[in-house]
Amino acid sequence: MTKQLMENRDAGRTHVTVLGLGLMGQALAAAFLRDGYPTTVWNRTAAKAEQLVAQGAKLAGSARDAVVDGRLVVICVSDYQAVRELLEPLGDVVGGRVLVNLTSGTSAQARETGEWASQRDATYLDGAIMAVPPGIGTADAAIVYSGPRTAFDLHEPALRTLAPTTTHLGADPGLASLYEVAVLSLMWNMGNGFLHGAALLGTAGVDATTFASLAEQAIGTVTGWLPGYARQIDDGAYPALDATIDTHHAAMEHLVHESESLGVNAELPRLIKALTDRAVAGGHGGDGYAAMIEQFRKPSGTRP
Ligand code: NAP
Repeated sequence: MTKQLMENRDAGRTHVTVLGLGLMGQALAAAFLRDGYPTTVWNRTAAKAEQLVAQGAKLAGSARDAVVDGRLVVICVSDYQAVRELLEPLGDVVGGRVLVNLTSGTSAQARETGEWASQRDATYLDGAIMAVPPGIGTADAAIVYSGPRTAFDLHEPALRTLAPTTTHLGADPGLASLYEVAVLSLMWNMGNGFLHGAALLGTAGVDATTFASLAEQAIGTVTGWLPGYARQIDDGAYPALDATIDTHHAAMEHLVHESESLGVNAELPRLIKALTDRAVAGGHGGDGYAAMIEQFRKPSGTRP
């Protein structure tokens, strides 16, 4: 055991348990150990704990023993099916503990697990990791949490060990998962926009590297639009301060036409245009672009 670990144990620092030692779970446990938290680990395949044990972790013989050891129990397994299989038999030992589930899933699964935990006198925080394993414990990591604020406040110092950017979103345990997919949607939409643009330019022999610098500038421009869009969405009023949806709609026709005539995949432009067709048909042609939120709020394929 390291000197730091002994000092922390003597100082009564939170005893942490990490269940699940895949790529992410190992990184989480390693960060706790680096920061001197007494850490118990468990994994279905015990061999994955070897390096952590060499770094000072205690390897529990069972998930039950691991939960009993920790006041703060961090769970990071593949999916909620695995979370359920793991936790279901441990209902009698989770009471009085704070369970922090960093497994990716849906908001409904997070709320269900929160309900399961509270019926067993455990406190449930759901978290979404915005980092890759090597980033954990470094300035590159961000993790968002949702669930009871008191539990977050109590364990915030330990949670900051994993990511300096550690944010509590609210009491609803589903918020962290929702935030995660919202950010992923944003990233994939931007990424796909870049890839589609690169495919278009590629037909004229322009390489992607040349396009990248212009694309960065364009993404910066879009970033500048967001506070104004957000205000209009929150106010529910969409005055066209720069361009109307009708103007955007006309430019989208060019994008679809250009993609089709160049033999580039036109599915993404067609989708963008189809949503905008509906906004125009619904009488929003004279509104600002933020009025498109009304299309995203409806289930897929809803007519105006
Ligand atoms: P991984 O390397 O595939 O590890 C999966 C872990 O889940 C392993 O410890 C595995 O145990 C365990 N597991 C699977 N089924 C189980 C079951 N039925 N009972 C008990 N344990 C079970 O995945 P990962 O990269 O660590 O990702 C873990 C979670 O973090 C995922 O939800 C992922 O979306 C999320 N996440 C990952 C990243 C990333 O960059 N890796 C980033 C953000 C979020 P065995 O070792 O015994 O198979």
